[in-house]
Amino acid sequence: MTTPAYLDHNASSPMRREVATAIAEMMQFPGNASSVHGFGRLHRQHIEDARREVAMLVGAAADRVIFTSGGTEANNLAIKACGRSTIITSSVEHDSVLRGDDNAGRLTVDSQGVVDTVQLAKTLEADPKSVLVSVMLANNETGVIQPVAEIAKSAVQQGALVHSDTVQAAGRIEIDIARLGVAMISLSAHKIGGPQGVGALILGEEFPLSAQIRGGGQERGRRAGTENMAGIVGFGIAARLARENLYNMAAVGALRDGMEDCLRKAIPDVSIFSEKVDRLPNTSCFAIPGLRSETQVMALDLAGLAVSAGSACSSGKVTPSHVLKAMAVPDPLAGCAIRVSLGEENTMEEIERLVVTLVTLRDRTGRQSVDAA
Ligand code: PLP
Repeated sequence: MTTPAYLDHNASSPMRREVATAIAEMMQFPGNASSVHGFGRLHRQHIEDARREVAMLVGAAADRVIFTSGGTEANNLAIKACGRSTIITSSVEHDSVLRGDDNAGRLTVDSQGVVDTVQLAKTLEADPKSVLVSVMLANNETGVIQPVAEIAKSAVQQGALVHSDTVQAAGRIEIDIARLGVAMISLSAHKIGGPQGVGALILGEEFPLSAQIRGGGQERGRRAGTENMAGIVGFGIAARLARENLYNMAAVGALRDGMEDCLRKAIPDVSIFSEKVDRLPNTSCFAIPGLRSETQVMALDLAGLAVSAGSACSSGKVTPSHVLKAMAVPDPLAGCAIRVSLGEENTMEEIERLVVTLVTLRDRTGRQSVDAA
């Protein structure tokens, strides 16, 4: 019996043990952070501690952290609450950005998945002060790291506001909101070993946001609703652990590179997407021509290895990846793409198992097509 291995951290990173323990403990405390009695004050204190930890993960001031129900809400809040009438984003964003504004302009990307900054400069010429530019720091499918600091530098100089979805980058590469030079970034707890259903929009500096969820005055009037106390506490601990364990990503990157080397040797016609540009150390998106994504995902699942076909956020439905489409990957090849996204606990044994499973599948499928001919 093989031990199941989870190689799908970009879909959701396993909750860290310390986080789960703290959440279970916090759930036993009655109260509401808005109450003035001792129970309420305890909730408030825990929430503010978590706010400081989340802020520290990205080099922000604590009072600039607005807790939300996740990365999706944070991205929607950035787009809808910023007061800019024109949204310019990229064609490889997560759906929560792409669908945040139906009229948003979409910057193209090159064959490696990197945003076209020249096109952005041209687009901004018309009326930059009416524009919010939203470009993700790291892509969830390919891991490509976008030149957000460079984009922000010129866009901000011209008067545009810049937001970056840093959901996948957090805990995998260093993030410093001041160095990025952006007005807002989004985070999600469950991509860094925290719980699902909690995230944050973090402001680079104070500016008026028009709350999209209105009611009580929580989050300094910027997002109403009783705080998800246990979730926020878990997020805070996950943020601290992500910061303290960032150095482990070098080993994760070596494991990913080792996997890609093995794949290239064993399957010479494998296509590894975005291999020529900066990527998250934990992410690899590749295609084996002739082997459908679903077939690979199922074979790997039978071998006890959990990976994704295309974007995991839309898992369940196997549709061609809009990211690979934007990179002009031909549909037949895109239909063979899978994403492996690693974490600290993955091992070389699991990687070897993955490569052997894919090689066996490839040999078997190759033989079947020869037999059928
Ligand atoms: N942004 C990116 C890049 C993501 O990968 C995801 C989820 O996969 C989200 C945003 C949405 O975050 P959440 O699941 O917390 O809503």
